[in-house]
Amino acid sequence: MGRSFFITTLGCPKNAADSRQMHRSLLREGYEPADSPYTADYHLINSCSFIESAREETIQTILEGAEIKQEHPDQKLVLVGCFTERYQAAVKDELPEVDFSFGTGLYHRTGELISEQYGPPALHDPLQPSVFSGMEFDGQAYAPVKLSEGCDRKCAFCAIPSFRGSFRSRQESEILEEIQDLTAEGVREVCLVSQDTNAFGGNPQKILDLISRMHEIQDLSWIRLLYMYPDARTRRFLEGWNPADLPRLVPYLESPVQHASARMLKAMNRAGSRQQFAELFALARDRIPGLEIRTSLLLGFPGESASDIEEVHAFLDECRPEKLALFAYSPEEGTTGFDLPGMPEPGKTTDIINEVRDHHLALLKDIHLSRQGQIYECMVDEISDDGMVVRRKQDAPEVDEVIHIDLDSSAGSPATEVGDLAQVKITGFFEYDMSGELVASGLSPAGREKPV
Ligand code: SF4
Repeated sequence: MGRSFFITTLGCPKNAADSRQMHRSLLREGYEPADSPYTADYHLINSCSFIESAREETIQTILEGAEIKQEHPDQKLVLVGCFTERYQAAVKDELPEVDFSFGTGLYHRTGELISEQYGPPALHDPLQPSVFSGMEFDGQAYAPVKLSEGCDRKCAFCAIPSFRGSFRSRQESEILEEIQDLTAEGVREVCLVSQDTNAFGGNPQKILDLISRMHEIQDLSWIRLLYMYPDARTRRFLEGWNPADLPRLVPYLESPVQHASARMLKAMNRAGSRQQFAELFALARDRIPGLEIRTSLLLGFPGESASDIEEVHAFLDECRPEKLALFAYSPEEGTTGFDLPGMPEPGKTTDIINEVRDHHLALLKDIHLSRQGQIYECMVDEISDDGMVVRRKQDAPEVDEVIHIDLDSSAGSPATEVGDLAQVKITGFFEYDMSGELVASGLSPAGREKPV
């Protein structure tokens, strides 16, 4: 059997981190990356089954993979991740296109499992200097790194704990080693992810300690924390976060509230209330200059009433989160919310989400206006002949706003590499993204001397 592989990743940034682990395992075993699924001996699909639309996307991707395989009969289609973990029997019985599958706990053994199933790769390159050789970030200078696996919470809408298992923190030394390797490969921003970030190490101080150790990694410019559950642990984390001590931890709080009505939060088995979220977000803004907030709302949960939606609108006015993700509830098998009575009429949740989105866009317009003329430290995400795409510390990769710079109209010389830092002045905005001009480039990250 050949030795080239291609990984198609579906779902969230956590899946991207898992795919990287698969990639490392395959390289370690002697496999090598292919440029596309059309040229690969093994096409691996890292699946998602979080909500109905994610499952549909997984099935669609399998069918597309089967079409590719028809042109390359020797290719093996391998399905990995949440979908297989959850629907193992159905994958075997109803998806004959899939040649081999395994679940979420074995990413780190992907290379061995493929070798056990199909024999070792045809050729092993003994000169391969590191397991990261050939690893691609699609030219990006950011990467997700997992802090933990699993979740001990029991949100009524979420099936993740049932197939990802209970919460387990990774060893700090293992995380730091992974980040060292990533920076050696050109990564300049690490996004720390997990199902339940603030549970890492059982104590918020452990996250602060880890981030402090990450500051010793010379080439790491920015550190970003994602998925901070909005409870007392996040409050304690914020109380311990001194920006002067951790200059590379970006002023960003991603904390998914999921609803603003205490009644609905209780029904969802989630912590908090509108007032508690307002206090938490005010604390974050007080302590961390320039901080911006991303949150999410899950609307259409059974029993949701007009007054619950009023709470959502009041929450937006009060907390003014700069970034907002909106989801419509869909009942998930294996969750306590699955058979609850009181589902909204079809179409109603879509209308509500559209209204909430319009409300947030109106707020965002004011937020954009307040950014006009401000100068921000940014990371270069893309460079082309006529322009650059950069991103502020306050914006997470892939999900938040970016700034487009037309190099013809910019002062100063452009940064030359993706991952460089630059100072950028905001000159305009679209619905979400912004335009800007370069003020200075080639900067060193905070807390590190500029090399001479
Ligand atoms: S915190 Fe809730 S929503 Fe997040 S993974 Fe755990 S159970 Fe699911």
